[in-house]
Amino acid sequence: MKFIFVVGGVISGVGKGVATASIAKILSEYGFSTTIIKIDPYINCDAGTMRPTEHGEVWVTADGGEIDQDLGNYERFMNRNIPKINNITTGQIYRTVIENERAGKYLGKTVQLIPHIPDEIRRRIKLSGEGYDIALIEVGGTIGDIENIPYLFAAKGLEKECGKNSVIYILVTYLPVPTHIQEAKTKPTQHAIKLLSENGISPDFILCRAKQPLDSVRRQKIEVYSNLDRHQIISAPDVNNLYEIPLNFEKEGLGKKLMQCMELQSRKIPDWEKWKKLLYNLQNPEKTIKIAMIGKYLSIGDYQLTDSYISINESLKHASAKLGVGIKISWIDSKIFEMNPENVRGLSEYNGILVPGGFGNSGVEGKITAIKYARENRIPYLGLCYGMQLAVIEYARNMCNLKNANTTENDSNTPYPVIDILESQREVMQQNKYGGTMRLGYYAACLKPDTQVCRLYHENGRIELDKNRINSVEKFRIGNVKGIDNIILERHRHRYEVNPKFVPVFESNGIIFSGYHQVSDDNMLMEFMELPEHPFFIATQSHPEFESRFENPAPLFVGFVNAAGLNQT
Ligand code: GLN
Repeated sequence: MKFIFVVGGVISGVGKGVATASIAKILSEYGFSTTIIKIDPYINCDAGTMRPTEHGEVWVTADGGEIDQDLGNYERFMNRNIPKINNITTGQIYRTVIENERAGKYLGKTVQLIPHIPDEIRRRIKLSGEGYDIALIEVGGTIGDIENIPYLFAAKGLEKECGKNSVIYILVTYLPVPTHIQEAKTKPTQHAIKLLSENGISPDFILCRAKQPLDSVRRQKIEVYSNLDRHQIISAPDVNNLYEIPLNFEKEGLGKKLMQCMELQSRKIPDWEKWKKLLYNLQNPEKTIKIAMIGKYLSIGDYQLTDSYISINESLKHASAKLGVGIKISWIDSKIFEMNPENVRGLSEYNGILVPGGFGNSGVEGKITAIKYARENRIPYLGLCYGMQLAVIEYARNMCNLKNANTTENDSNTPYPVIDILESQREVMQQNKYGGTMRLGYYAACLKPDTQVCRLYHENGRIELDKNRINSVEKFRIGNVKGIDNIILERHRHRYEVNPKFVPVFESNGIIFSGYHQVSDDNMLMEFMELPEHPFFIATQSHPEFESRFENPAPLFVGFVNAAGLNQT
């Protein structure tokens, strides 16, 4: 088994995650089974409790982990599920070591930072890598961060254990161009190489991130400073599209160079045909549509963070690549519809409206106003999680005469709690186990035949795919669904549900619940809804954006983008 450590120099946020995902994709194209592990050196045990402004989006794994968003890139590039155990944090490592110490597992020894912490890190890396030919390990942050020292130490330990050609290092660095000089500077890269060498590591490859491709002058400077060969220095200029990156790396022959470095022989001729075709579609759209994404947008200082919806942005891109339709997304803060309801008319210029997931009451009435506008003006609508709950509330208030209908998340005294917490969850909450009430990860849904949702899942090959996956999923995630026809799996991250008591009222007023999950106590949870009279009004309790890949887009996004394309005048 081989290990590739990807570490960052200079600054974070230069695309180390995407570079790692691209390398994994390249190596899998050469026929190696590949996995990726992300190390986050913070003390939180997972990203579930972190504010999106602190850490971007929370990524939800199929097995119910709430983890770092980089794992999303890995899945999107590799078209494969990555389990939650592949996100290692310092909090988890220390927790295990302390639990072991309390359980007397160290047999009276003094438990110390060295060797016990790196030993546990090594154990975790090997556990995640088990069964794969190659494990890539992305170390978060940059070298030189104090908190990364135990991880670099663990890498050296692996090298000792497995041999030098089984552990290799890639340094992702950045060449800034100061505006007053207009020249790419290599000095920060030289410092990064020096810092790495202080940990006994010399990089096998340096990926030079920069605005422009690396020129010969700078290449030579880095060569001299790092004592590497020319071929070990890889140019990684900015791209318009993330999905160009594996192809750019291959232009530099990175796959073959890596195999040579690890003494591996290629097992397959890479086939990039489908990838190239999708990329071509993305870059040469036949037409471009406008999508309004109505959310809660938070800014950090002077900057707005659209990163908190990265999976949705990417899912739209995947659908765009499949259909050859370009997409321009406008992120609209729903509060503008609360300040002045007239503002909602501005939505008429969009071909599609999307309401993503969310928590709490901030901006909620504005989102409901936007949903009403989409419904009444026949603009294609896609609602994700909260986006479905709010669509149900809107329909209750305006089409079912249930005045002041609401979710108990925001109004515990509403006369019509159309979105509510289940009785069984309430009991858990009373015991103060609030965290345990979240539905997280895969849950199966049974789709009703003859619905738009069922058709989209069929057309996009998902029913077939999920039929094969269903056996590998824990029983409680499947529930009591009968038979195996039209069963799909989607990821979840929510507490509240469509209140089963109101389902008959909605159905008699025109909502079709196109898919449901049947819990083991036989409670039915509504997973999908659609309005048959509307060109495209579909919402889901799940988060299909976590199941969308470049080569395998999520069915609802394909349907939505297609409908929005048809809505273009
Ligand atoms: N706040 C809602 C719930 O907890 C929706 C969550 C979401 O959109 N992810 O049920």
